[in-house]
Amino acid sequence: MTEAYDLVVIGAGSGGVRAARMASSHGARVAIIEEYRVGGTCVIRGCVPKKLFVYASRFSEVFDIAGSFGWSVDASFDWATLLANKNKEIDRLENAYVSTLEKWDVEIIRDRGVIEGPNAVRLKNADRVLEAKHILVATGGHPFKPAIQGADLAITSNEAFHLETLPDSILIEGGGYIAVEFAGIFAGLGVKTTLAYRGDRILRGFDDDMRVGLEEGMRSRGINFIYNACTERLEQADKGIRAIFSDGQDHRYGAVMYATGRVPNTMGLGLENAGVQLTPRGAVAVDKFSATNVASIHAVGDVTDRVALTPIAIREGAAFVETIFNSNPTAVDHSLIPTAVFSEPELGVLGLTEAQAAMVCDIDVYVARFRPMMNTLSDKPERMVLKLITEKGGGKVLGCHILGPGAGEMIQLVAIPMAMGANKADFDRAVAVHPTAAEELVTFKAPNYTYTNGEKDL
Ligand code: NDP
Repeated sequence: MTEAYDLVVIGAGSGGVRAARMASSHGARVAIIEEYRVGGTCVIRGCVPKKLFVYASRFSEVFDIAGSFGWSVDASFDWATLLANKNKEIDRLENAYVSTLEKWDVEIIRDRGVIEGPNAVRLKNADRVLEAKHILVATGGHPFKPAIQGADLAITSNEAFHLETLPDSILIEGGGYIAVEFAGIFAGLGVKTTLAYRGDRILRGFDDDMRVGLEEGMRSRGINFIYNACTERLEQADKGIRAIFSDGQDHRYGAVMYATGRVPNTMGLGLENAGVQLTPRGAVAVDKFSATNVASIHAVGDVTDRVALTPIAIREGAAFVETIFNSNPTAVDHSLIPTAVFSEPELGVLGLTEAQAAMVCDIDVYVARFRPMMNTLSDKPERMVLKLITEKGGGKVLGCHILGPGAGEMIQLVAIPMAMGANKADFDRAVAVHPTAAEELVTFKAPNYTYTNGEKDL
């Protein structure tokens, strides 16, 4: 039996849900197919539970300095309570997503969708076929584990959200977002944490001062680093897992977690049945309107391997609907995307790094380093870093990088003037809010240093 829809969405994550309900608001008959839980990576096993864990881990920091404000705290932590409360909140959010889809008359189908042709999707379990004028692939991605001996002993971020007990120690391999965020979470919750990375400094591609500052901050929280090495073999040990590294190191950990990137969910989707082209990394190949080479099939979000961030998937979903169901071709601008790394200390980033900007034009660099006021009564030496990069002579703001408490919230607001193309003078016109950390961004006077023709001026 076949049923006809204007749109069949495969995958009820951030991008798919947004597209489904918006298409429905334009009068389309829409079905969304999901084989796991409604909400996708972000809500179910990504951004949202991660941030709840980050909040939990940061209490230890507050307890550390509480004494300097006159408090005495006798604190203990219960993982089971955090897990149960986190699960309750994720259930609530999933229900909210379901209600929204139902409110917009989107049919939710709990099954696995397999594309059979340009206009047909088979429901694997129900064994029936949906006929679709348009198909949207929004299946996201999954964690990648290196193919080494014993890799199945290791967890990924997926399992980290459901550990029955906290390990005494953990090795996290990888140097990207997930590795540094989970290192902060585990260390803050009292787990002896080691981060191993194949390169020589975490967060490749980020501004160097932020990378150095974050590493210092992580070390001061007791996190151990192994650089220029990868695990080559994992073995079950007496209590935990033995990890043998490419440089010969050999250690035991209570748990090993891979945070070595994510891969698009394109396997077993039947994309080949419709002739949909993939990129060399196995993502769905799309143009700026999220269109594949097959006219009736589009793809948004992590499955396209463009920018793996929730707000981008949401925008791509909305732009797809605007293009197809509102006759208004709309492309998402991927050029100026603010982002936060919820590490400890936190990082907020927008625009070019110092090294990138210096290759584009002559630049001024403004840097402020200071102890956050919250720490000044204690002996905690950690400094916050705020960096503004502008065209030379007070021109356009090209980059903003913030390391320290509230960096994520700050960079969201800096994104507004930067999206408007603000100059240094626009920042200067803003009145400072005192005493805050963010006021440094509007009170910079002379640049700390400059670059001409790609070289730092002495
Ligand atoms: P990232 O791409 O950020 O980092 C992957 C890391 O794994 C890199 O350090 C990479 O090294 C390393 N790596 C890759 N392959 C191997 C290998 N075979 N052996 C050893 N190391 C390897 O991926 P994540 O999984 O951390 O995050 C995925 C994406 O999800 C992010 O890029 C981001 O877009 C998004 N995300 C966003 C968050 C946020 O907004 N706060 C939070 C979490 C995720 P190298 O650098 O050398 O390539």
